[in-house]
Amino acid sequence: ALGAAMCLGMGACGSSRGGNTAGSEEIKKGDTIGISMPTKSEERWNKDGNNLKRKLESAGYKVILSFADDKPPQQNADIENMVNNNAKIVVVASKDGTAVGPAVEKARDAGAKVIAYDRLIMNTKAVDYYATFQLEQTGVLEANYLIDKLGLKTGAKGPFNIELFTGSPDDNNAKYFFKGAWNLLEPYFKSGVLVSPSNHGGGVKADFKLADWQKISVQSWKAEQAQKDMESIIDSTYAHGEKLDAVLSPYDGISQGVINAIQEKRPDMQPGTASWPYITGQDAMEIAVSNIAKGTQGQTVFKDVNKLADATYDMILEIAQNKKVTGINGKFNNNNIDVPSKLLDPQNITKDNLTDLVKANYVTQQRFDALT
Ligand code: BGC
Repeated sequence: ALGAAMCLGMGACGSSRGGNTAGSEEIKKGDTIGISMPTKSEERWNKDGNNLKRKLESAGYKVILSFADDKPPQQNADIENMVNNNAKIVVVASKDGTAVGPAVEKARDAGAKVIAYDRLIMNTKAVDYYATFQLEQTGVLEANYLIDKLGLKTGAKGPFNIELFTGSPDDNNAKYFFKGAWNLLEPYFKSGVLVSPSNHGGGVKADFKLADWQKISVQSWKAEQAQKDMESIIDSTYAHGEKLDAVLSPYDGISQGVINAIQEKRPDMQPGTASWPYITGQDAMEIAVSNIAKGTQGQTVFKDVNKLADATYDMILEIAQNKKVTGINGKFNNNNIDVPSKLLDPQNITKDNLTDLVKANYVTQQRFDALT
C-alpha cells in the first residue's frame, strides 16, 4: 500500500517501468505472462482464459492462468502469485474493478505491464491498456431489439410494461451497458409509452437516472438472484394475468433467471405467442442459443471472445517486443487516468441469424444442432 501511495503522491507512477512500452526491457520467449479471470462459473471466461493461454503458449511464453471464483481477495492473491513468479505482463478480467487495484499496483511496482481485459480496472494508475468490446453498443443492441419488436418507432402507443435489470454493481461494464440502453429507452418512459409498473429497485419511473443503475443490478450477474428478483416482481405486479411486454436483461444468465421465474409463476404465458415478453441478453451462451431457438429469449449480444483474445495477444506481442501498441481506437477513464483502449464490435443475434455463431466458429455445428 505504501508503494502505491508514494506512486500516486509523486504523480509519476509507472514513469520508469510501467506506462508506455518505450524504454522497457524486452520480454523474451520463456518469460511468464499471467492471466487472471474472474470466475469459471460463467461460460465465457473459460473460453477467454483458455484461448489466450493457448495462443501465448504456442508463441513460447509460460502462462499462469487463474480463475478467482468471483472472490476479490482470491483474485488479488492470484495476481500476487503471478508477480511472485516474475510475470512480465498480467492480463486481468476483474471480478471487482475497484478491489483489484492494490494487486495490479504491486504488479506494476514489480515492473510488470497490466492489461485490463474486458472489464476496466478502476481508481488506479496501474493499468497500461484495456481491451474490450464497445460497451455502450451492447445496450444499444438490446434496446433497439425491444424498440423494434414493440413497434415503438412505427408509432405503437402502448403503454407497454417493461422490467429492467442491470449487471453486477461491482462491474464498470454494467453501467455502460445500461447507459447504451437507457439513452434509447428513456424518451419512451418520458412519453409514457414504456412503463415499469413494479417497484423493482425502488421503481423505475420517467425520472430514473443512469446514476441509479445499481438499484436494479444483479450481484455477480447471478441467474439465481435474477430469478428471485423476477419472482418478486411477478408476485407484486403480474400475479393476476397482467401483461408483461418486455424485459431488458443485460446477460444471458440473468435472462435465464427471468425465464425460470416466468415459467414457474405464469404458466399461462407461452413462448411463441403474444403472451410471452421480449427478452434480451448478452454473451451468446449455449443456454441462450437454445432459448433463442425455443423462443423464450429473443435476442443476445454476441461478443466474439476469439477476437478479443487475438486483439489482446497482438497487444502482448507488441509490448513484449517493445513496439508501439497498435489498434488503439479509444480510451476509458477509470476515475484516475485515461486508459488507451482497443474496442471491438459486438454483434446482434436473434433467431434470424443464430447460425452466425457457427459461422464464427463460436459454437460447433454439432453443438448447435444439439442445442437447437
Ligand atoms: C462482460 C459480459 C458478461 C458479464 C457477465 C461483463 O463484464 O463484459 O460479456 O456477460 O460480464 O459475465
